[in-house]
Amino acid sequence: MSADAGIVIIGASLAGAKAAQALRLDHGYDGPITLIGDEPHLAYQRPALSKGYLLGITGPGDLDVLKPQFYADQDVTLALGAPATALDLDARRVWLADGTEFPFARVLIATGARPRRLQVPGADLDGVCYLRNRDDSEHLAAALRAAGHVVVIGAGWLGSELAAASRTFGNHTTVIDPLPTPLYYVLGDQIGGLIARRHRDHGVNLLLGDGVEAILGTRSVEAVQTITGRTIPADLVIVGVGAAPNTELAQAAGLHVDGGIITDEHLRTSHPAAVAAGDVARHQHPRYLNPVRIEHWDNAAIHGTAAAATLLGEPTTIDHVPYLFSTQYGSTLEYVGLPTTWDRIITRGGHATYGFTAFWLDRRIPVAALTIDQWGAADHLRTLIATGHPADPQQLADPDTPLPNLLPNAPSPHRNLQPQQRR
Ligand SMILES: Cc1cc2nc3c(=O)[nH]c(=O)nc-3n(C[C@H](O)[C@H](O)[C@H](O)COP(=O)(O)OP(=O)(O)OC[C@H]3O[C@@H](n4cnc5c(N)ncnc54)[C@H](O)[C@@H]3O)c2cc1C
Repeated sequence: MSADAGIVIIGASLAGAKAAQALRLDHGYDGPITLIGDEPHLAYQRPALSKGYLLGITGPGDLDVLKPQFYADQDVTLALGAPATALDLDARRVWLADGTEFPFARVLIATGARPRRLQVPGADLDGVCYLRNRDDSEHLAAALRAAGHVVVIGAGWLGSELAAASRTFGNHTTVIDPLPTPLYYVLGDQIGGLIARRHRDHGVNLLLGDGVEAILGTRSVEAVQTITGRTIPADLVIVGVGAAPNTELAQAAGLHVDGGIITDEHLRTSHPAAVAAGDVARHQHPRYLNPVRIEHWDNAAIHGTAAAATLLGEPTTIDHVPYLFSTQYGSTLEYVGLPTTWDRIITRGGHATYGFTAFWLDRRIPVAALTIDQWGAADHLRTLIATGHPADPQQLADPDTPLPNLLPNAPSPHRNLQPQQRR
């Protein structure tokens, strides 16, 4: 082992664990690594929390980001179960809530995000649930099993998955969202309308263009009152109205924070000792004008690995086309790109058929794409969008033109797009 003060990683989840893995296995770093996590669990994957784990199909062991023996085998010190509460970047020290103190040479902040809270009367009643961590998912699974009438607030990716899960448990399920369609800001009304149809086809009572006025009940939830005056019976309310980055520690340490920890394209923060990664980081992405904060599994994994290189002074530029997957009603939706401006949407294949794909175009250049149950397509779509070249709308629409045939031979320089992050 070298004599350096080592690397401390705050946030023992996907980005943090991937960074530890890359430090040891990709870079052969042999200094001290400490992984600090406020949860008692080893780093685990969150996507299954609203899917297989919630439905009881996936076991806890399947959630591990790294095999449990990795930490001992690779001499990674685990400090789990207590949050880091103070960080002095100049003194290069971090303190946990239980009083433990760790010195470091460099620190990775990968503290993720937490659910945004609903601010309406009755929001603190029993039976109002949020989903972010493993304990939430276990609690929610029990509540969904016991519920009869469920109201999901928010029809984004998470809300849509939770509505599907609620239907799988056999509950009467209502989804409330103020926008005209689910995922309206991401997909627009045409494709958002398709998602709406899928919910309704599966028996969901989808209330769009309406909001929550209050949650009614004495001790626990009994109903949800909407802004337009509807009263929806409910014994469980699940809130999925977005997530906020856990930036408090970074902000108190003096880092530049603005809707996330601001980083350059290598995840370097405003202090030379600190790097940020994953859901908490708002990084300067070469494809977009403004820094972007992306709450996707794929992004956190890429960030974690890239952060390791940056921590060791060998930075790589992070310019991946964002990618998200979602499972709803037994189908897998894959979305590539970021919500941005577009002037045209082209679809290929019927929405209920294998191979459905939608392309969002800005002046004939594909800037985003969605595919449903089309294994392997996302990689081609990512490459297509990465090129930044105009595409032939007729070919895009033609299901007989294989996706690889859409790819131009040579990539063009990155275009500066302006994402409108309105999730
Ligand atoms: C229910 C759910 C379903 C999802 N499904 C999908 C999906 O289908 N597809 C997809 O692409 N993405 C999905 N995501 C998003 C994806 O899981 C996240 O983008 C990813 O987990 C981000 O990883 P992260 O390591 O940056 O942050 P997180 O996973 O949020 O981890 C941050 C960790 O840091 C801890 N922490 C915070 N503050 C402190 C502190 N002061 N001290 C110590 N520890 C701290 C947190 O408790 C947490 O354990 C889903 C997320 C959720 C919650």
